[in-house]
Amino acid sequence: MIENWDVIIIGAGSAGLSAGIYTVRSGLKTLILDEKLPGGTIADASVVVNYPGFSEISGGDLAEKMTTHCRKVGATIHELEPVVELVLEGEKKAVKTSRSIYEAKALIYSTGSHYREVGVKGEKEFRGKGVSYCGVCDGPFFKGKRVIVVGGGNTACITTLYLSGLASQVFVIHRRQAFRAEETLVSDISGKGNVSVMWNTEIQEIKGDKQVRSVVLRDNVTGETSELAVDAVFVQIGEAPNSQLAKAAGVETDEHGYIKVDLKQQTNVMGVFAAGDVTDQPIKQVGTAVGQGIAAALEAYSFIKRPYYRK
Ligand SMILES: Cc1cc2nc3c(=O)[nH]c(=O)nc-3n(C[C@H](O)[C@H](O)[C@H](O)COP(=O)(O)OP(=O)(O)OC[C@H]3O[C@@H](n4cnc5c(N)ncnc54)[C@H](O)[C@@H]3O)c2cc1C
Repeated sequence: MIENWDVIIIGAGSAGLSAGIYTVRSGLKTLILDEKLPGGTIADASVVVNYPGFSEISGGDLAEKMTTHCRKVGATIHELEPVVELVLEGEKKAVKTSRSIYEAKALIYSTGSHYREVGVKGEKEFRGKGVSYCGVCDGPFFKGKRVIVVGGGNTACITTLYLSGLASQVFVIHRRQAFRAEETLVSDISGKGNVSVMWNTEIQEIKGDKQVRSVVLRDNVTGETSELAVDAVFVQIGEAPNSQLAKAAGVETDEHGYIKVDLKQQTNVMGVFAAGDVTDQPIKQVGTAVGQGIAAALEAYSFIKRPYYRK
């Protein structure tokens, strides 16, 4: 049997939980679905110091507070229930999950983004066994060890600086001859005695036994390969939006896959809104995800109820 809801929110991160608080308080019957536990990506941050109202809070605590708040106002949250398909033609929007099929008058798509993989042999095998995508989450496990950072943008530089305070040696593997990062970050890195940058170098393979033990590197100018003993590989080559399902159902994205939204968080499909890191809006922070989630919720309310005071 198909369950009917006013609004279905896909993704219980900062954007989705904020949207849920507003849709429920607006009187809309709201279902929030998440393939993992609710709270979203901010739970990965060891500490958050820039979210107003909390001068310092762990990402896990902030995620939990948002989830508790959303549940307290009355949202139904189904955790560990991935959405696998969307059918968006027609007035009712159908959402298929691993467990059921639901229909709603409006959808809010807030699935965030995922770390880009470098795509080499050993990367998947050693994920969580030395291969990491989050310096602040996993860096403390490699105190006094030798680590590499793959990448050359701002994120790679910030992670390098962070790891330089923990690891004995940090090698930065960058396939170009210069960083694409802010000048201050680049100069801070050059001042670190335990950081070595390997320019024009690409990672070819990650090797190990139960844990990462070494990486095979290739100089892309000379073509020479070498093996470097390391304990961890931090892949820092950016993020990609979790927009595949929406795109497959006809939601328009930009060339990088981010969902295009207008100022009302409306996508090209009527009744389908998007919020947070999955959208083409440039700032990817908790505060902006919260704001976009709220806007999406109130616009979904207007779309469903068409109140007289909104045209
Ligand atoms: C290590 C780290 C540190 C950070 N530190 C800060 C900071 O200090 N301050 C700050 O403001 N921001 C910080 N950020 C950024 C912040 O976490 C994000 O901007 C914010 O979480 C985006 O919220 P969101 O709701 O758009 O996405 P997310 O929080 O990523 O939530 C998306 C949710 O969608 C779910 N989902 C995805 N696909 C599906 C599917 N098919 N079916 C069901 N559910 C699905 C996911 O499981 C996830 O729970 C940090 C990010 C990281 C990675």
